[in-house]
Amino acid sequence: MEFAIDVGGTKIAYALVDKNRILASDRVETRQEPPEQQLREVGQRLRAMARDQKASPKTVGLSLPGPIARDTLLQAPNLPKGWVGQRIQDYAAMLELDLPLFAQRDALMGGLGEYAAGAGRGLQSFFYITLGTGIGGGLILDGQPVLGADGAAGEVGHFQVEPRGPVCGCGRRGCVEAIAAGRAIEHAYEMRTGQKLSGKEIADRARAGDAVALSVYRRAGRALGVACAVVAQVANPHAVIAGGSLAESLDLLQPSLLQSLRQRAWSANLPLPILPAQLGGPAPLIGAAYWARRGLGQA
Ligand SMILES: [Zn+2]
Repeated sequence: MEFAIDVGGTKIAYALVDKNRILASDRVETRQEPPEQQLREVGQRLRAMARDQKASPKTVGLSLPGPIARDTLLQAPNLPKGWVGQRIQDYAAMLELDLPLFAQRDALMGGLGEYAAGAGRGLQSFFYITLGTGIGGGLILDGQPVLGADGAAGEVGHFQVEPRGPVCGCGRRGCVEAIAAGRAIEHAYEMRTGQKLSGKEIADRARAGDAVALSVYRRAGRALGVACAVVAQVANPHAVIAGGSLAESLDLLQPSLLQSLRQRAWSANLPLPILPAQLGGPAPLIGAAYWARRGLGQA
């Protein structure tokens, strides 16, 4: 049994996990205050949760929204000041749980969750890509999460696919994220129609045959296809597992995604099936618990 924590820009989800299943979970808002106060509160809530469940977890898994290397969170543009630059063991101390803690970037934790209990079961190598406000990616190769020199292996969101494309949050133009993330799709639709709709409404319109909505999704699918082609060549995974809102709009994205993938990737690296993720929002929590269990040598 494990404690799992998923820190995001707007909320911190926490859970008690047993054999890849969430026994209890809750969340608090991410507040504009140093991590000390926030994590002490989360630690207290987790202790209360364990008491209620009469459980005694032996370890903690922590999912963080940024690359981790040299035992340090290196970047996290969505978190309040004070989080970046902390050492992983400092987070463990702030929680006051007195348990070994194992941390990793959220997209990798999501991928590990799918590996342990979702669409990645039985796959030794796959690329996990998640679409939400931004785009995250993580690679599992030969059963191991790939970290890379700076903890950012597989982060394809800021890979540039359209040099003259829309401006991205990172300051450059035409990143995958600037074309295919939820916000980018909403923005592109608004630019062309003057209508401000949610991603779900645009997806519904595309399914009903709205030409502009279809073309916005086609372009997003093409951008994702370029990113997947690069991953296919470099890492040769069995499949791509698509999480976040991407999983829900895969029917709209897949035709242009697969076409762009086929145009770019070598036939030896194909076919590369694109599978919908199975765990949904709790994937990083389940992945974090699994990672912690592996950290103890029990998985
Ligand atoms: Zn970018």
